[in-house]
Amino acid sequence: MQLSNELSRGPVPPHAPDRRLEKKLLHLAGRAIAQYEMIAAGDRILVGISGGKDSFALLYLLQTLQARAPIPFELVAVNLDQGHPGFPATQLEAYLRSQHVPVKMLREDTYAIVKRLVPEGETTCPVCSRLRRGILYNAAQELGCNKIALGHHRDDLIESLLLSMLFSGKTRSMPPKLQSDDGRNTVIRPLCLTPEDDIKAFAESAQFPIIPCDLCGSQENLQRKRVKRLLAELEQDHPGVRDSLLAAMGNVMPAHLLDARLAQGPRTVDDGRDPWFDDSDSCASDAPAPAPLTQLGKAAAGRAGQ
Ligand code: SF4
Repeated sequence: MQLSNELSRGPVPPHAPDRRLEKKLLHLAGRAIAQYEMIAAGDRILVGISGGKDSFALLYLLQTLQARAPIPFELVAVNLDQGHPGFPATQLEAYLRSQHVPVKMLREDTYAIVKRLVPEGETTCPVCSRLRRGILYNAAQELGCNKIALGHHRDDLIESLLLSMLFSGKTRSMPPKLQSDDGRNTVIRPLCLTPEDDIKAFAESAQFPIIPCDLCGSQENLQRKRVKRLLAELEQDHPGVRDSLLAAMGNVMPAHLLDARLAQGPRTVDDGRDPWFDDSDSCASDAPAPAPLTQLGKAAAGRAGQ
């Protein structure tokens, strides 16, 4: 794929963002990147742009950090238009092209495939996200990108942790940095320490052209909504519980847990894959609950992910 070789002159949002929030978000993203060694000199990073607040904020912060970083790395903003009715790809592309960053717009009508494969009433996210993942993996390779940056934030991580513990019997979440099983891609999440509310307020202050997240017509994720509500209630009574949960993910005491396999060392445990790499992915924090793939969906999604 050929891309214009624009020099990064930094982002140009529609409105000057709240500088206090910008400082906080840059600090948190910078800390996450350093702590988990997300970016190295010479990296070429595909930044996944869905058109939601998180991905716009991610691009803005990475561009700003790129201009200040002591090491060189490249960014490529990539959007995948999945064919959802009313998706404003032209407007999104115009905005991205005004941001002094190489842009690649992809179009694959996965919406039609999902509609064909998933029976009415079943959750569409597993097939949809698996198709999307395969397309983005391939795009990363074609664009010469060795990393894929995603906009998952602190609240996505702690909600994923609780969802997994409450409904799957596993202590797991979305890792800040993880290489795919085939070694082709490394996913990084520079916003993993950043509260969603701060991203929302920052995105509003910058007036990013946010695209509604309900264009796919997916059903609501009741489990995630419930966990969100539970966390909001707890946070009201005990401010700081979300941060405490985040800290807990970085302060694991294996000897005080029940996993007998840990006695042989953490790496002997099959950690399972990143939710983004397996079938339980969805688009965003408000996306529908994961559900098992239908046999038909598995076959089709597997082909797309090859
Ligand atoms: S919420 Fe995201 S993953 Fe789920 S069906 Fe819609 S676009 Fe696909």
